[in-house]
Amino acid sequence: MKKIAILGSTGSIGTQTLEIVREQGDIQVVAMAAGNNIALLEKQMREFKPELVSVWDEKRAEELRIQTADLSIRVVSGMEGLLEVATYESSEILVTAIVGMLGIKPTIAAIKAGKKIALANKETLVTAGHIIMPLAKECGVPILPVDSEHSAIFQSLQGAGDNKISKILLTASGGPFRGRKKEDLLNIQVEDALKHPNWEMGRKITIDSSTLVNKGLEVMEAKWLFGVELNQIQVVVHPQSVIHSAVEYQDGAVIAQLGTPDMRLPIQYALYYPERRNLSGKRLDLFEIANLSFERPDTDTFRGLALAYEVMKRGGNVPTAFNAANERAVALFLDRKISYPMITEIIEMCMGECEYIEHPDVDEILQTEALTYELIERKVLGH
Ligand code: NDP
Repeated sequence: MKKIAILGSTGSIGTQTLEIVREQGDIQVVAMAAGNNIALLEKQMREFKPELVSVWDEKRAEELRIQTADLSIRVVSGMEGLLEVATYESSEILVTAIVGMLGIKPTIAAIKAGKKIALANKETLVTAGHIIMPLAKECGVPILPVDSEHSAIFQSLQGAGDNKISKILLTASGGPFRGRKKEDLLNIQVEDALKHPNWEMGRKITIDSSTLVNKGLEVMEAKWLFGVELNQIQVVVHPQSVIHSAVEYQDGAVIAQLGTPDMRLPIQYALYYPERRNLSGKRLDLFEIANLSFERPDTDTFRGLALAYEVMKRGGNVPTAFNAANERAVALFLDRKISYPMITEIIEMCMGECEYIEHPDVDEILQTEALTYELIERKVLGH
């Protein structure tokens, strides 16, 4: 039995991880953490019988303790709870499927405790990649990508030996507004932005995909995961999402991973790496697809991607300002407090006001996050 822990078991990645657990039958989920959805968490506890569960809010944790008193499962809360789940003794792999920079501390703790990381929580690498990657190396812990593009790159690197990557071709669907111009984005509503053409995902990443900020975050994630320079990562808009990404080698050979858009594949690959298991579901039918197309990203309309490249050039704590501004701006847009174009405007404003720290430690990263939130509170919301 493979033993795993999941941060974010009630989310899109978390529930798909549990589908794999259910289908494969030889994984035991020993610990899981969630935010607010204690109704689903209770169902998961009854089905998967973990030994430890964490809920963010202590009041909700208490409610859950009462509802599941018959199960003798320990329920903890807060950051302490997340850390306990992340480092739970008997678990071998931690699936990081929570959203945002909240994942930094638990991921670091898990690496120090020797857990393999199946990483979905890209915001952690974007902001703390300079701490996490060397730490994982020092602790001998693999970081196994769950993001479909990064999993595709990782799969395309199997058998590469010492051959160096010449270029990464990072594919992007282009999101629901591909082909539109700046002026077409002025009146975009929450419902429009939540309609992703190819993937079913959580709300935050779906908005990020529509602004191409997600692709910017992925470029940064790729830089940390695969140790390449920025000019070696080319974003290619590929609306069919069949090629999940590719690697070009020095001799010009391009190796890609293709498939149907199903997140269970990269999740399962990370959980069983290097083994490939059967996975239920539709297979890729090239005759049905017939045509694949490619375009350059429109970074004038989708400024988020252009800003991400600028962020990476500046480095230090600027990726944190970029990411924190985006997390807050997306939440405000989802709450209908700001317009769609303001998401990128807020990011740009926060990048401009960020007080530069070249090698931020975890406290400085979290301080930059807090200062970015304060700035938005003051300048955007007028509080
Ligand atoms: P969801 O919004 O669907 O799920 C987020 C999960 O995090 C939920 O289980 C939520 O719990 C939990 N959570 C939120 N706040 C807290 C908290 N304070 N403490 C503990 N748990 C918390 O997100 P996704 O699954 O879409 O995304 C997760 C990560 O994976 C993101 O970083 C995303 O960028 C990345 N990713 C996602 C992909 C996808 O297909 N969904 C693809 C590639 C990467 P609750 O619901 O109970 O509040």
